[in-house]
Amino acid sequence: MRLKRKIKNTIYIASTLVFGWVITVSGISAMKHLNKVEAIEFRVNGETRFTLPADQVDEVELLLKKYKLSYLSKSNIAAEAKILGVDFQQDIEVLPIKVDEEFIFQDVEDIAYDLELNEVEAVWYTVKDGDNLWQIAVDHEDVNMKTISDFNPDLDIEEFIHPGDQILFAPANPMYDVEVRLENTAIEPVQFDTIRIQDNNLLTSQRIILKEGIEGEKKVVYDIKIVNGYPTEINPIQETVLKQPISAEVKVGTKRTVGRTGGNGYGVVSGRLTSNYGYRTHPISGRRIFHNGIDIAAATGTAVYAYADGKVTSVSQDNTLGKYITIDHGGGLKTRYLHLSAYKVSVGDKVTAGQRIGSVGNTGYSTGSHLHFEVLKNGAYVSPWNYI
Ligand SMILES: [Zn+2]
Repeated sequence: MRLKRKIKNTIYIASTLVFGWVITVSGISAMKHLNKVEAIEFRVNGETRFTLPADQVDEVELLLKKYKLSYLSKSNIAAEAKILGVDFQQDIEVLPIKVDEEFIFQDVEDIAYDLELNEVEAVWYTVKDGDNLWQIAVDHEDVNMKTISDFNPDLDIEEFIHPGDQILFAPANPMYDVEVRLENTAIEPVQFDTIRIQDNNLLTSQRIILKEGIEGEKKVVYDIKIVNGYPTEINPIQETVLKQPISAEVKVGTKRTVGRTGGNGYGVVSGRLTSNYGYRTHPISGRRIFHNGIDIAAATGTAVYAYADGKVTSVSQDNTLGKYITIDHGGGLKTRYLHLSAYKVSVGDKVTAGQRIGSVGNTGYSTGSHLHFEVLKNGAYVSPWNYI
C-alpha cells in the first residue's frame, strides 16, 4: 500500500511538472479543457487530499460512515443511551469536481489506508512480576488510577493483575478524530438529612440512633463527549428525584470529654463531600456501582480522627484501599479510613473519639487526595450519615 501511494504521488508530481511546463511553454490554457471528466475530491480541513474516480463516491461515503460508527462499539456505551451525533472533528468533504483525466490517480483504498494512520501511537505497559496498579501509577508520570480506569474499562481494578497483562497508558491519536456525543441517564442516591436531638446525659462521643435514615434516588441526565473511544467530558444537565430520602433521627450527647473536630468536620476529617454513599449507575456504561462509604476531599496531610472510642484492628495497605485503618468500636460497629498518606496508630492501640489516627492521602484507587470513610455494622456496610 505504501509503495502504491509512493508511485501515485510520484506520478502526481511528474504530471504537475509536465503540465506546468506545457502550459508555461505553450501559454495555451486550452490544454486544460481537454479530457475533463467527472471526479470526486476528498478534502480535509479545506485542503484536497485525494482525487478519485466519480463512481467511487458511494464506496467512500460508506467507508467513512463505517469508520465513524466503529467508535460506537469501541466506546462501551449503554444500550439505552441516546446518541446525538458521531462526527469527525476534522472538516471532511467529498465533493464532485471536473478534472483532467490524468489527475485521477488515487482510489478509495488510499482513504482506507489514511484512516488507519495514527499521529501518535498508543502507549501500552506490560505488567511485570510483583507489580501492583497503585505502584504502577506512582512510578509513571501522566498515569493515575483514573486514567488507568478510563483507558482500560474492562480491567477490574479490584482484581489482581498478572505478569504479561497489557495496560493501556495512553490511547493512539488517529489522523482522523471521531467525536461521539450522547446523552445517558444514570441513577444516583440522594442524601438524607439527620435530625440531631441533643441529650445532656450522653457524652459527645455517644449517639443513639432513633431512626435510620434512608437514601433517596435520583435520575441524572449526562451530556457526554467521547473522542476516539474515550470520554473527555461528562456533564450532568438534568436531575429528577425519583424517591425522596427519609431523614435520620439521632440523639447526640453534649457532655464533652474529648475534643472533636469543629466546622464541617464530618467528625473524622475537615473537607468537602465529593461522593456519597449508595447505589448509582455509571454515566456511560450504565453499569451498577455501589459506593460503600463517603468521600471527603481534603489536602494530603490533613488530620484524620477516630470516629468514636475503640480499638485499632488493622493498619495496612492494598492496591485499591491504599493505606487504611480499621477501628472496632464494639457492639458490632467498625469504621474504616482509606487512601491515607500516613498512620499515627498501630494495631492493638486503644483510641478515643476525636484522637488523631492518620493523615489524608491519595493512595490506592484514588483520583485525588481524599478520605474514604466507611461504617460497618455486623460486617455489612451502612450509611455513615447515620453515625456522623
Ligand atoms: Zn470512596
